[in-house]
Amino acid sequence: MRIDISALFPFEEKELICPVSYKGGRLKGHRVAEAPEFLLRITHLKDRMFQFSGEGSITLSFSCDRCLKEVLHKIPFSIDRKADITARTDEDGEEVFFFPDDQSVDADLLIEDEVLLNLPVRILCREDCKGLCPVCGADLNKGPCGCSRREPGGALQEALIKALKDSDLASGTTSV
Ligand SMILES: [Zn+2]
Ligand SMILES: [Zn+2]
Repeated sequence: MRIDISALFPFEEKELICPVSYKGGRLKGHRVAEAPEFLLRITHLKDRMFQFSGEGSITLSFSCDRCLKEVLHKIPFSIDRKADITARTDEDGEEVFFFPDDQSVDADLLIEDEVLLNLPVRILCREDCKGLCPVCGADLNKGPCGCSRREPGGALQEALIKALKDSDLASGTTSV
């Protein structure tokens, strides 16, 4: 979403409050399920140095790390950045969210930067998700599949089988 801020250029400490929302359909490959509008405060400090602030949230679609089911996850973010529109860099000298016309801001990029910092490391559809059976691929949340019907203590057995398989793969031999 493009915001023209050239009207602020002649004034110092002048502020613009803009309703914005993320307009891209995807963010870092994740489908955007919800991108509610929030208020972005843009202040021209002086000499085309701007301050951006605001708080919002975005809901993205992820896949559960264990069973691959779609999980919608809301990510709150808070914007508080300074940037120079002439140099097109932020306070750390990084190139940022301005359009090459030197007059406008790309609010999508501004939002994206914050969301990327807050992306979850791990997504589960629920804390105790049982995942998929590694053998037949069945969703174990819907009940046990044939191959998972091993006796208690099966975890150790599974670990042994896996270790065997791995060593077979590594040595290129097949076990009997
Ligand atoms: Zn799951
Ligand atoms: Zn199975």
